[in-house]
Amino acid sequence: MEKIKLGISTCLLGENVRFDGGHKLDRYLTDTLGQYVEYIPVCPEVECGFGIPRESFRLVGDPEHPRLITTRTNQDHTERMAAWAKKRTDELEREDLCGFIFKSGSPSSGMERVKIYDYNGVPSKIGIGIFARIFMDHFPLLPVEEEGRLHDPRLRENFIERLFALKRWRDELKEKPSLKALVAFHTRNKLLLLAHSPQHHRQMGKLVAGGKELPLKELYARYQEIFLEALRLKTTNKKHTNVLMHMLGYFKGQLSGDEKQELRELIEQYRLEALPLVVPMTLMSHYVRKYDETYLKDQTYLQPHPAELHLRNHV
Ligand code: SF4
Repeated sequence: MEKIKLGISTCLLGENVRFDGGHKLDRYLTDTLGQYVEYIPVCPEVECGFGIPRESFRLVGDPEHPRLITTRTNQDHTERMAAWAKKRTDELEREDLCGFIFKSGSPSSGMERVKIYDYNGVPSKIGIGIFARIFMDHFPLLPVEEEGRLHDPRLRENFIERLFALKRWRDELKEKPSLKALVAFHTRNKLLLLAHSPQHHRQMGKLVAGGKELPLKELYARYQEIFLEALRLKTTNKKHTNVLMHMLGYFKGQLSGDEKQELRELIEQYRLEALPLVVPMTLMSHYVRKYDETYLKDQTYLQPHPAELHLRNHV
């Protein structure tokens, strides 16, 4: 798989672009995730023409339509930033991004809980950075996260899983479209979708089953929309447990009573959060390989992202 294209706030890569001439290097993003990702850096404040160092900004006023104001001299740069952000977002359309990682708390780049000051100077953490808002409005289904939230193992696993799933879909789109190809893609992703949303899983099953009824272009567009909506819903221990029990059903004839019992116990311990997902998954994958279980071995759910990232060791 070629590298995944991912937008990122430039300061997270260690570039000295912050208002004070510093950076916010995040080593996990550069050294670990960076092995699989080609970053497209975006620093709204520098690219919009503000220098380094520069006066800092803050958001002021109506949380839905905040103003971007310099903190010392009280200059309003909202229109300038918004016009630049729209242009840059249009340019990013051509980059085929699979997601974006924003710098938290920034009045330009923060995707949530950015401080907004009311006219008395009292802050509330309810804002969205000017660029981040325009970007997310433009790409509503694209995976987005902040570097701070990515320290949470569940959010990290979920976000990275979405990136790889979207990349596989984008690769699929490079192939000749056909109902047969879409059915094959859907079949490989069934368990992954089930782990995110049984409801979307059913909806997509119906869509694909009735695929002949729709023009191919419309079918693909509809499929993409539901696929991305499904992945946006987070996996849980309960949903993973359902998938694992469903997988266990494929080994009715092959596993001995003891083997089934052992696997069931691991799944139950995972459900109770006494074990990470990697434990029942490892034994399950072993049986998939050993018995060459055709349907299961093609499932992206078995390895939705590189094992070297150890993401399932912590969820
Ligand atoms: S938070 Fe955004 S605007 Fe601020 S330095 Fe980082 S990339 Fe630039």
